Amino acid sequence: MSTLEVRDVWHRYPDADAPALRGASVAVADGEMVSVVGPSGSGKSTLLRVAAGLLRSTSGEVLVDGRDVADQPTERRDLTVMFQHPLLFEHLDVAGNVAFAPRLAGSGRREARRCARRYLRLVHLEGMDSRDVASLSGGQQQRVALARALAAERGALLLDEPFSSLDRELRASMHDLLVEVRAALAPTILMVTHDLDEATLAESSVVLIDGRVHQHAPMTEIYRRPATVAVARLLGGFTEIAGTVRDGVHHCAWGRLPVAAEGAGDGAAVLLVRREALRLEVDADLGAGPGIGARVVRRRPIGTRVVVSLVGDDDSPLEVELPVGEDVRPGARFRVVLSDRRAPQWAVRDERPGSAAPALAGEPEEDTRRPVVDGGRSSVGPA
Ligand code: ADP
Repeated sequence: MSTLEVRDVWHRYPDADAPALRGASVAVADGEMVSVVGPSGSGKSTLLRVAAGLLRSTSGEVLVDGRDVADQPTERRDLTVMFQHPLLFEHLDVAGNVAFAPRLAGSGRREARRCARRYLRLVHLEGMDSRDVASLSGGQQQRVALARALAAERGALLLDEPFSSLDRELRASMHDLLVEVRAALAPTILMVTHDLDEATLAESSVVLIDGRVHQHAPMTEIYRRPATVAVARLLGGFTEIAGTVRDGVHHCAWGRLPVAAEGAGDGAAVLLVRREALRLEVDADLGAGPGIGARVVRRRPIGTRVVVSLVGDDDSPLEVELPVGEDVRPGARFRVVLSDRRAPQWAVRDERPGSAAPALAGEPEEDTRRPVVDGGRSSVGPA
């Protein structure tokens, strides 16, 4: 197996207004799997096509095992690509499809079919060698495509939305299969996907937005600490609280909140708070610590939980996730507070267009906001 690296790649399609890739870099270690996620049109396929040699980038390097392959065609790059649609050879049977690469590499017919059978066993299609590929289900065809890609025995495997044409159940079984294949062969894999759950199959994920890599980290870390507001928006479920960081404290309409040292330094910064880390208090008691008065505008059930959308007294949109059944009706007023008031919050630099964070000078040291009196003191939502 091999390492794969894409270094500082720029790409602009002819006649395009803006570059599809702006200095994107991704490194995949030997035997590692990295997924690339991002909104539609963010450049994921372009990145994969550049890595595969299907597209020549405007500038940048592609290295396989440390060797620059930018001038090499796909077949000389020691990698193989699998797409969303299996693109099987209809004139060949199942084993013939899988044996194609070994045949091309010089194996005899019998040896190549023996090799094909080995990979068909790995993808749980033993005994189907002589089947006509057109007679297979979509899921089986994608298994053949995976076996064919593996049978090429190249250093790296590039997967472009490989399972997105399959229904949920089939996709889940392909995910299980990929885990098995990784345990058996440890291929180096770069996978493009728009599915954030699928992305977690990889050790780490690259978040590509507008052709730029915003973050490269394990998916759990990306959810915990999104590097930018754009990443948080892609994940969904975050409330953005604008303000200013000074000496490790975020000053905003909610009051003053300590922030994690790894996040934004001094200056305009947005707190990114997960909606399940917030709760609603019936009383808008400002003495209770940082929080903000807000009015419910919408409630949306998701399974056993309900997502409550509110508008804060500073007109900012807020989302809070509660167990279903809480008495939260549109129009009701609450105070939105953090469930854990002591934990340092996650702040990133405020780079949102048009955002004007409050100036540091003149920032009140004490919370002097108008108290909001609204009902009793009980709280709703998880403590
Ligand atoms: P993704 O895979 O993340 O959806 P793509 O890499 O397909 O994104 O596209 C990135 C950007 O490049 C988009 O704005 C898209 O419209 C543009 N683009 C993609 N392919 C072409 C092409 N062949 N010609 C011109 N523009 C393209």
